[in-house]
Amino acid sequence: MMHIPHRRVFMLKVVASSAALATAGSLQAAPKKVEESEPKAASLGYKHDTAAVDAKKFPKHAAGQKCNGCMAWLGKPSEAWAECDLMVDRLVNANGWCSSFVKTKG
Ligand code: SF4
Repeated sequence: MMHIPHRRVFMLKVVASSAALATAGSLQAAPKKVEESEPKAASLGYKHDTAAVDAKKFPKHAAGQKCNGCMAWLGKPSEAWAECDLMVDRLVNANGWCSSFVKTKG
């Protein structure tokens, strides 16, 4: 049987642990697109398309209001879907809207 020095065994364990953590991290870093029917989204009146918002239900909604122009949007302006401060572990649509919309400054 081949003898493996303790230091080498330790390094192999470190490499294996790092690989496992990297895999777990990449799984966590992949939030899925929110469904309009999910409780949180539904309670906020979230729609993937701002044009589909019920004007009677949300009279403060304006046509130009979109997720990518909201303070809570965490993506780049050019991204189609991104995370949002209010929808934890979910992606919202750049053209979406919910009743917590707050226009970005500038
Ligand atoms: S808080 Fe803003 S970015 Fe998040 S869903 Fe509502 S409008 Fe979109």
